[in-house]
Order: sequence, then C-alpha cells, then structure tokens
Amino acid sequence: MIFSEQITDIHTHRLTDPEHQILSVEPGEEIPANARYISVGRHPWHADRETSDEGWAQILADPRLVAIGETGLDKLRGPDLVTQERELRKHVALSEKAGLPLIIHCVKAFDRLIALKQELKPRQRWVIHGFRGGEVQARQLMAHGLLLSFGTRYNDKALEAAGSGEYFRETD
Ligand SMILES: [Zn+2]
Repeated sequence: MIFSEQITDIHTHRLTDPEHQILSVEPGEEIPANARYISVGRHPWHADRETSDEGWAQILADPRLVAIGETGLDKLRGPDLVTQERELRKHVALSEKAGLPLIIHCVKAFDRLIALKQELKPRQRWVIHGFRGGEVQARQLMAHGLLLSFGTRYNDKALEAAGSGEYFRETD
C-alpha cells in the first residue's frame, strides 16, 4: 500500500471529502485549511512556469504532502516536450529525495515515459493518473512497474486487468 488505506480518491482538484482525498495543487497555489492529504507538482501544461528552490523546500516540509505531482508529458497540450520532460525529471528527483510516490499525467507519450523509467530506475512508485487506455496498454505499463489510477472515464477491460494487482481510483 503506497497511500493510507483511508484514501479512496488519490487525485482531485476539488476537495469534497478531505478525509479520503488527495488534493492536487501546483506550487504557490493556496491550500484549503481542511485539506488533509496533498500532492504538489507543476502540471505539464504549465511546465514552463518556474518554481524556486525555496518554494520547493517549503512544499517538501508540509506534513500533509503524500505525493509529488502531478507532473508528466502531454503531446497534445502545453509547452514543448523538451520543456515538459525537463520539469518531469525535476519532479522525479524530488520524489526520490522526499521518498514519496510520483503522480503522472501522460497523454500520448507512454513510450517516452517507459524509457525514462528505465533510464532513471526510481525507487519510488510512479502512478499514472486518469488512465483511459485499453487493456493492452494497461498490461504493458504494469509490466514496467507503473501503477494505474482510474477516474470517472476508463476502459472496463483495463480496470479488470489492473484488478489483479494494486490500482487506484480518483475523481480528478
Ligand atoms: Zn489532475
């Protein structure tokens, strides 16, 4: 179990049930006082925005922090992939340093993500949030040690395939 058993929604941007949700925020974003679990990361769409080292130090010191992200790669939106990957690598380093799992947003860049995982060999778990791919892709990602999280829209067969191991649910 990489998250507390209490947590039934590992990724949301709208806090409705603080005891059971991880609220995903970006550095500098205001965190509601009732948030109990948070993940902090620069969304790949905003990968060209800077976060100071001080800003990160402050985030890493927050006792509510249970994951790093979302970060990731999105071929359809956001700045160029070189910029996105540079930011993703920073988040991987932070996740390793903090000893916390990484929450990943990935659109049409799964091959690159797998290559990065093979290159960086992280000790922390990587969770792909909002997974909507099919069974074959689900199995391929799981074979590389990636964990999947399913939101409100997902492929039944992929969820079934993930069901034999650890997987997550979210409302995003
Ligand atoms: Zn999200």
